[in-house]
Amino acid sequence: MRWLLNRLFGWLHGPEPRIICDTAVWMDGAAELGRRTLGRRRESGAFLIGEASESGPKIIRAFIYYDDIDEHALDTGIVKFNGNKLPRLWEICRARGYRVVADIHVHPYGYGQSPSDKADPVMPRAGHFAFILPDFASGSVTPGGIGQYEYRGNGAWIDHSRASAPFLNLR
Ligand SMILES: [Zn+2]
Repeated sequence: MRWLLNRLFGWLHGPEPRIICDTAVWMDGAAELGRRTLGRRRESGAFLIGEASESGPKIIRAFIYYDDIDEHALDTGIVKFNGNKLPRLWEICRARGYRVVADIHVHPYGYGQSPSDKADPVMPRAGHFAFILPDFASGSVTPGGIGQYEYRGNGAWIDHSRASAPFLNLR
């Protein structure tokens, strides 16, 4: 049934997005990331958890903020998540039946990836998506004005930020 619905969706609306999110969930999450910069004084970020199937787009269901899992994650001004805290994240995912489908963090200025963003993917597995909100999440927070990246493994990324095909779809 799902494949049929996907097909119908494709016929009606063109190519499917790679990842989707309820608009309210996304806008609330972006606003919260902005608040957690403490007045543009530090970067903030979150794991995006939700549903992922073999076919069809991933679905973001919730933002799990880095500093809720690792209280020191934002202390230095740039996001430094302690991997020893990951079991807490897996616990949340297990309890809700979700997976980590992407991550998101804010930058002071532009949404381009920093050298460390490229070198150290939050989830170093092919198919992981990473989003970057510019201007401490106080400017654009929607597709067209944000960074949208796909990790391909072995240090390679695809930049979907300016892709004409739908990537992130808010609905
Ligand atoms: Zn960054």
